[in-house]
Amino acid sequence: MSSTAPESPLAKQQARALELRRLLNQAAHAYYVLDAPLMEDPVYDQLYRELLDLETAQPDLVSPDSPTQRVGGAPAQGFQSVQHRIGLLSLDNAFNTAELEAWYGRLLKVLDREPPAALPMVGELKIDGNALALSYEHGVLVRAATRGDGEQGEEITANVRTIASVPLRLQLEHPPAWVEVRGEALIPDDTFAAINAERESRGEALFANPRNACAGTLRQLDPKVVASRRLDFFAYTLHLPEDWQAAPGDPERPSNQWAALQWLQQAGFKVNPNAALLPDLAAVEAFFQHWDSGRRQLAYATDGVVVKLNDLRLQDAAGFTQKAPRWAIALKYPAEEAPSKLLRLSCQVGRTGVVTPVAEFEPVPLAGTSVSRATLHNADRLAELDLHGGDTIVVRKAGEIIPEVVRVLPELRPAGAPRLQLPHTCPECGSELVREAGEAATRCVNSSCPAILRGALRHWVSKGALDVDGMGSKLIEQLVDRGLVRSIADLYRLDGALLSSLERMGSKSAENLVSALEASKAQPWHRQLYGLGIHHVGEVNAKALTKAFPSAAELATAALETPEAITAVYGIGTEIAQSLQQWFATPANQELLTSLERTGFSLAATDTELRAAEAATAATALLNGQTFVLTGTLPSLSRSQAQALIEAAGGKVSGSVSKKTSYVVAGAEAGSKLSKAESLGVPVLDEAGLQALLQGS
Ligand code: NAD
Repeated sequence: MSSTAPESPLAKQQARALELRRLLNQAAHAYYVLDAPLMEDPVYDQLYRELLDLETAQPDLVSPDSPTQRVGGAPAQGFQSVQHRIGLLSLDNAFNTAELEAWYGRLLKVLDREPPAALPMVGELKIDGNALALSYEHGVLVRAATRGDGEQGEEITANVRTIASVPLRLQLEHPPAWVEVRGEALIPDDTFAAINAERESRGEALFANPRNACAGTLRQLDPKVVASRRLDFFAYTLHLPEDWQAAPGDPERPSNQWAALQWLQQAGFKVNPNAALLPDLAAVEAFFQHWDSGRRQLAYATDGVVVKLNDLRLQDAAGFTQKAPRWAIALKYPAEEAPSKLLRLSCQVGRTGVVTPVAEFEPVPLAGTSVSRATLHNADRLAELDLHGGDTIVVRKAGEIIPEVVRVLPELRPAGAPRLQLPHTCPECGSELVREAGEAATRCVNSSCPAILRGALRHWVSKGALDVDGMGSKLIEQLVDRGLVRSIADLYRLDGALLSSLERMGSKSAENLVSALEASKAQPWHRQLYGLGIHHVGEVNAKALTKAFPSAAELATAALETPEAITAVYGIGTEIAQSLQQWFATPANQELLTSLERTGFSLAATDTELRAAEAATAATALLNGQTFVLTGTLPSLSRSQAQALIEAAGGKVSGSVSKKTSYVVAGAEAGSKLSKAESLGVPVLDEAGLQALLQGS
């Protein structure tokens, strides 16, 4: 039995908790003490959550050195350590509405309130800086300290004195014997960029984010350096002696957080102007949503909003957990990075035969969507990531950007996990995969590989190509899997009866599809060429090529015999010429062209297409070599519209009139350019004259 014991769920959980603890402690040290984070914050947050969940389910797993039992990091060396008068705690996090509601539910319970009681709250921005504790005695700043481990911080008074928004003396007539103020020191984004640019020019390591730059600055041994970095400070927490009452002329002792913010402002502190009084949970959610997008306009980084119970007496009644106040919660924005567990490596074969490795992992919410797959691009990237079975990976998806695997956390790798590689054979057809020297891509070169055929068919019927309505991916899959279609040309041999026998195909849609296929034969030659999916021949290149080579036969001859005629086409280089040569030299492709012709494709420009092309060329030639100067306001054309029309017809537009100017086009309030044209004898046109010229009359 003993050999199976390590595999028991409990043993697995113990091992995972141990690994997480080790990694998170290492990360916290790097983050809090060295100001050089080892991982992205959301990755830390999620791994922390995983550990917390393990510990909650299995309290035996909790150990005193767990990061869930501690606040921040130990005070760094080099500064005197000071005991805080009142502990500086952390904040609990909520990552979604359900967690916010759960927090609120717990709060009501602690305060003995019946849901859905509405407790007024204050919403503040969660500024991504560093918490400072400022001590004033008889109104004078006597000490400033970092949070440290919450009990003890580093004494950095000399540095904090250089922050212009920290008052050295409170603006009160009769200040209390002592005042403790907490707030956030920060570096605005532009200063952060300037600091990093300077560090880069000196070859120094860059700060990962403004928060780290701020922490690093506050721990500078030379206050002059701190002064040069222009830190800012927003105050948000006030502690006063219990028996203090305001003397006339000074702000009253606050009874709630909102009033405390006003008090701080009156005493001379900078308070963040975006705080809001929120009557209930719905207002909290609206505040959070508002700042989710609003934060992008701010000049400094925020990583969420902090919600605090407004009434200070209720705050007292709610109290604290070991690490954080029960009366406050940090609501964090949706993460753009997160850790996940790799489930398997799969491979996709594209229409050009390129094999793309894809990581499939446990679903994670990222930037508002659930993500469970990400491309790994190619074998090189796979090797670079050093991916192993069951690895914990860091996945990133920002906004519209497609998900990617950023890196692997080898510290959390299961023992004996195998290193993952691309297979040697095609997962679709089993033929040997090929990787040519100097190429990043690994390919399946079997032209009858079903995956390649499916891709080729999807491309042929796509919008920019033959645009066949009703031919979706699922249908293509059925046609290929049943062996009904072995090439693009086979599509044109399908009949209504056969199509209507397929899954999810009624006789009406089958008929429509047959007509759509028939109609696609009339698509212009450039779309047909693009549809063939020749490597490097996209929509733009297909248009340029078909203008110069109005039929497949002419293009094939040029590709095989006179490649210089291909590269002579504007915008077409040797890479494309080579790709065309290869394509036309492949017998299967020649057969495809013959079959397409047999099904009724002309594979050439129609007379109408040729005439349109000629007309376009003629129009371009119309104003060839002629120079125009525009002046004044034309009645219907803007300056740029007129310029575009002239240029489209082959003319040039210049800014100044000379003897070489062909025409000056003058509108209302034309100035010196008109008089110059007249003095030089340059013909002058009005808008109607220009239009007539453009039409060739
Ligand atoms: P926290 O940052 O989640 O919340 C507490 C802090 O919020 C306070 O100390 C204060 O500095 C700040 N804050 C900003 N605005 C505030 C406001 N209006 N009112 C009150 N506080 C405000 O908690 P934490 O204990 O400092 O640390 C956890 C954070 O540190 C997490 O976000 C985590 O991602 C990050 N971290 C990252 C790594 C890493 O490796 N990347 C390691 C450790 C911690």
